[in-house]
Amino acid sequence: MLIVMKFGGTSVGSPERIAEAARLAVASAAQGHQVVVVTSAMSGVTNALIDAAQSASKGQWTAAVSQQLLERHRAAAETLIGTDPVRKTATLDILGRRLDRFEKLCYGLSMVHELTPRLLDAISGTGEMLAAPLVAAAIQAQGRGSQAVDATEVIVTTDQFGGAEPLMDDTARKCAAVLQPMLAAGEIPVVTGFIGATADGVLTTLGRGGSDYSAAILGAALDADEVWIWTDVDGVMTANPSEVAGARTLPEISYSEASELAYYGAKVLHYKTILPAFRKRIPVRILNSFNPAHPGTRVTVEGHPSASGVKAVTSIRGVSLIAISGTGMQGIPGIVAKAFDVVAQQQANVLMISQASSENNICFVISSSEAGRVLKALRSALEVELLRGNIEEIAEQPVAVVAAIGDRMRGTPGIAATVFGALGTAGINVVAISQGSSERNISLVVDAQDASRAVRALHDAFQLDRQA
Ligand code: ADP
Ligand code: ASP
Ligand code: MG
Repeated sequence: MLIVMKFGGTSVGSPERIAEAARLAVASAAQGHQVVVVTSAMSGVTNALIDAAQSASKGQWTAAVSQQLLERHRAAAETLIGTDPVRKTATLDILGRRLDRFEKLCYGLSMVHELTPRLLDAISGTGEMLAAPLVAAAIQAQGRGSQAVDATEVIVTTDQFGGAEPLMDDTARKCAAVLQPMLAAGEIPVVTGFIGATADGVLTTLGRGGSDYSAAILGAALDADEVWIWTDVDGVMTANPSEVAGARTLPEISYSEASELAYYGAKVLHYKTILPAFRKRIPVRILNSFNPAHPGTRVTVEGHPSASGVKAVTSIRGVSLIAISGTGMQGIPGIVAKAFDVVAQQQANVLMISQASSENNICFVISSSEAGRVLKALRSALEVELLRGNIEEIAEQPVAVVAAIGDRMRGTPGIAATVFGALGTAGINVVAISQGSSERNISLVVDAQDASRAVRALHDAFQLDRQA
């Protein structure tokens, strides 16, 4: 079997964790499988790189960040490589060169004061490029051949910096040329997650949390038999376990459930991960590198239907509700079209839309980081309507989207009643509602500060802490 296994930031967060990740990869190889490893940056590193880039763009750059990163990775290399002087020198040399590049980029940035998405990708992708040589060294130290591979050599993407999309045919060709020979030689390639490169070789990133997506892209490109996502919890759970104490592992979910869950805020999977796997019907497993004996979650075509219909409750934080309202909006054609034109021009991603049937109000949810920009553009584009009083207000409110998700919600009556009953009992005000036509989820907007209580109320109402 060919398995692509991805290790997240906490799973490679220390020399001990890297050694354990290597052990898991080597154990699968020892069972006769071909293994491709995809690694994230060590935990916290991507955030540190982005912070450094932002500071540098404001003229505040000190080499201290790069020193700290070098220290952390160097210490890990020392622990993992042990006594082999050649290997140690080679690894330290790579780390030094990569941090040197990072330093130069930040230094340049502190001169020009302009952080473009392209430059941010070049900087934020450094973390994976520091981690991969360490993971490869750890695998070698455990007696298996291994090479670190920059995904810039194997994943070809569009030039949408900060959220690039793979070009699958080119990617498949490169994977065949670069990775297949390593696999054929019995080696374990360790590919950097999160990054790729355009056809011209310019580094891109796939978006925050994108190493899961990298694993699925490589899985599809290599026609892998399975994609394993090693993380720090026992698989995909009925809710975020750090928010809901009674959250339980879902042993099996369908591709559509996984994709819906990820889209609606379950951080355990990047929301784009499922598509490449689904297209090739490659089973995906989500496993706990801190508890590898646990079977985790399996993502398959069928999923595992559960009795109540709702399998999990998720939430999206850091979002804002933009509401355009006014009694004079009724019957004025084109306001909705104009509003969404503006949103599209601002390249803001709309997570949810709802319009009251009275036409007095349309509202939609976007990321709070985009809200200021969108609000300003809306007020300018709808200036005339505001002046005439057709629109009374364009307002922003910090909110959270809470979603109840499950394939079997379709055709199960009474789910909406349970949702609203539970929130009513908890005294939580629902600001807006939307039910996808797929009927795989009901999502509602609540005030940001009610989000945790809303998630817990729904988890309780559907008794998700009990075995299905
Ligand atoms: P990694 O670094 O391995 O990619 P992430 O932090 O991106 O890990 O994702 C794992 C985290 O996702 C968990 O620690 C948990 O807090 C969070 N999470 C949110 N929703 C869920 C859910 N429904 N099931 C499991 N974990 C979830
Ligand atoms: N290191 C990247 C991030 O923190 C990608 C990942 O971990 O999946 O966003
Ligand atoms: Mg992640």
